[in-house]
Formats: sequence, C-alpha cells, structure tokens
Amino acid sequence: MIRYHVVDAFEKTGLVQAVTSIRRGGVSRAPYHSLNLGAHVDDDSAAVSVNRQIFFRQIGLDARHFVHCRQIHSNRVWFIDPAAPLLQASPVEADAIITAHPSLAPGVFTADCVPIFILDAATPAIGMVHAGWRGTLTEIAAQTIRAMREHFGTAPSACLAHLGPSIQKCCYTVSISLADQFEQAFGPRVRSDECTLDLQTANANQLLQAGVPPDAISVSPFCTACRTDLFYSHRAEGGRTGRMLSLIRLHGD
Ligand SMILES: [Zn+2]
Repeated sequence: MIRYHVVDAFEKTGLVQAVTSIRRGGVSRAPYHSLNLGAHVDDDSAAVSVNRQIFFRQIGLDARHFVHCRQIHSNRVWFIDPAAPLLQASPVEADAIITAHPSLAPGVFTADCVPIFILDAATPAIGMVHAGWRGTLTEIAAQTIRAMREHFGTAPSACLAHLGPSIQKCCYTVSISLADQFEQAFGPRVRSDECTLDLQTANANQLLQAGVPPDAISVSPFCTACRTDLFYSHRAEGGRTGRMLSLIRLHGD
C-alpha cells in the first residue's frame, strides 16, 4: 500500500525527495486511524512509533535523519547549518526549517494547515514550512525565502514551491473579522465569500511577491476536509485526529 503522495515537480529535478504521508496503512486506532505520524495529539505513542517506522521504511529514510520543529504557529525559521554535525531531533520552537545539509530530512506535521515545500535548485538548499492561518498572516512563507537568501544566497527565481494537501476555500470557514484581516493583508482574492478563506492563494501570493516565478508554484488539488478518507482534518474531525507528515530531503549521498 502506498502511504504517501509525491511532489512530482520537485522529484523531477532529481535533486530531492518530497512527500506527504496519507492516513492509510498504519496501526493507530480511531480517531487517529491509521497512519498518524504526530506524537503530540494524544495518540498511543507506541502506535506512532510503529507508524513512523512503516512510513520511513517506505520512503527509504533513515529515522536518524528526520528533523522537525516544535510547531507554534509562528513565523520563526530554523536554519540548520550544513556544516554542523548530524544532530538528533531536538525540537526547536519554529514553523519552518531550512538547510543545505546533504542528508537531513526536515518535516512538518499538518492536519489542515498548509505544508509548503521550497527547493532552491541552484544552491541546492531546501525549506519546509508549516503555515496555518497565523503563520500565513505573519508571512512565514516569505520569511522562509528571506532566510534562504540570507543563509544560502538563494535567488527566489531559482526556487520551486509546492503547497501540499490542506484545507481549501470549499471548507475553510472563519470569522468575518479574520477574513477581513486576510483581505487587508493579501487582497480580495483570498476571500471567496464573506467568511471563507483561501490559504493557498494567500501563501502563493507571498511566494510570488518574494520573487518565486508563477510557473514554479504548484498547489495540491486535495482539500483535507473534503478528503478525510486520505488525510487528517482538524476542522472536519472536530479537533481530535492525527497528523500527516510532509518532508523534503536533498539526495546528497
Ligand atoms: Zn473542502
């Protein structure tokens, strides 16, 4: 059974592996059924470790190379120095990870929030971003491109970006005041009616404004809330559910 989606545009470069897990083929019980990879959602921790083993084996990842942050809905970017020795995952509070390390695999956990993959194919360097509404409003995607410029000399015109499975405008109802804030920040296109938000367009706009070319940005067709057969949805499942893992790594070895 295939337990993940591949980001085709990224893998075609031959430079990276870029995947998002799906919820099938694991051992967690309801409401976390079944391939829950998030250890912070009150699922049985033994089940989560079995699920991670299943998933990492399937994508061919050595678990010691997996790194993630402690996600806090911020716009903080964690830079992992490529020259640093391989580190054990000791979560830093942040919502994006950037690195040019040849074997580390940064990942983010989501269940409606937008996982954003970034590849600077010229350096090469990678970024993995977790963008919910707070991170989107505080422009974590643009912050990540800025941090990549600063640390790697990344040219945004050499970047590819992909927005993975996440809640879309068909399902993402918010308060009128939040929709107002988004409209002020990103323009009327991010609001499809009075209280429905389009997080994908808001994040894609940030990436465009940061200089990523329009044809280098792709968006998953999947809405997590519409497709709870494939994905976890915090919103559609009343807050008690598992997490997908999106990760990216350079083919450095
Ligand atoms: Zn939907």
